[in-house]
Amino acid sequence: MIEALHNLIREHKNFITIEQFMDFALYDQTHGYYMKSNPIGKGGGFITAPEISQLFGETIAIWLILQWEKLGNPNSLNIVELGPGKGTLISDIIRVTHKYFRSFIYLYEISPLLQQIQSKTLSNYTSNIHWLNNIDQLPAQPTIFIANEFLDALPIKQFLYKQGAWYENGVTIKNNTLNFANRATDRSFTIKPEGSILELNDRASKMFNKIKEFVKNNGGAGLIIDYGYTEPTYTSTIQAIKNHKHQKNILEDVSYSDITAHVDFSIFTGCKISSQCSFLSSYGIRERAGLLLKSAQPNEAQEIMQSLHRLIHPELMGELFKCAIL
Ligand code: SAH
Repeated sequence: MIEALHNLIREHKNFITIEQFMDFALYDQTHGYYMKSNPIGKGGGFITAPEISQLFGETIAIWLILQWEKLGNPNSLNIVELGPGKGTLISDIIRVTHKYFRSFIYLYEISPLLQQIQSKTLSNYTSNIHWLNNIDQLPAQPTIFIANEFLDALPIKQFLYKQGAWYENGVTIKNNTLNFANRATDRSFTIKPEGSILELNDRASKMFNKIKEFVKNNGGAGLIIDYGYTEPTYTSTIQAIKNHKHQKNILEDVSYSDITAHVDFSIFTGCKISSQCSFLSSYGIRERAGLLLKSAQPNEAQEIMQSLHRLIHPELMGELFKCAIL
């Protein structure tokens, strides 16, 4: 039991919203999952596409080079990565793109610990790396935005429709244990079937709108990759992953599990949406794997094929993960 979470709930008359709960679980200075230890990689709680294989970052780099060409081949370019984790993706991107143009890298990262890890990963390029607290701090120049598995971490709100009224979902304490609960709300939405759950990720929408505005005013592009849906399912998509496994009880290991929600891709208005499989395939992931295979040892070859499969197979990451291209 985390005393601080129980205290927070008690201070709020024994009910905090899902958004307040996720804020605590992920970002509390002492207990927040992203704040206290490195969550990513084989030794961490979950593994992401850039950590599976360099093929992922290298294929994104190809997309980026094409965007640079569309911008008229400028000598330098701003690249912003939101939620860069260990810095693997951006480092793969710089490795491929630096032959074409110089990039000024801006990293948007909440965790001081991950900032340190990113700085280590990128130690060869330190002169052009900056950390940002706010998109508004960016210099007004053509900029490419990238986010992989970032928006799923942003706290969402959940509303429940039952017996003709809307309620907000949240967390309460019952018999000294955490429980999901709901309470009446002033918010109302179009009527949905009984028991429908509506999820709103206001923070993701706000972030996306800022990026869209920035690209509109300064030129550039954006690539958002995450697990999510294009049509709402009207069920809860909150999940908790601990040691690479889905937790049955989301409330059991708060602060030790990654609590996230699927991303609603319908918020990315004006973007082209495709599956991760179709995005990576159209920018040449198979051809890149083919090249790597030519100089690979048998054990490396097997790893390349397995990673490719994991990234693009429809039953693995290929369909659940989607790309929004701005
Ligand atoms: N993109 C990386 C890491 C994904 S994990 C990869 O693909 O491996 C989510 C990342 O987003 C972590 O770096 C986490 O610390 C960061 N993050 C989560 N919420 C954030 C927030 N509100 N503001 C800034 N960074 C955040």
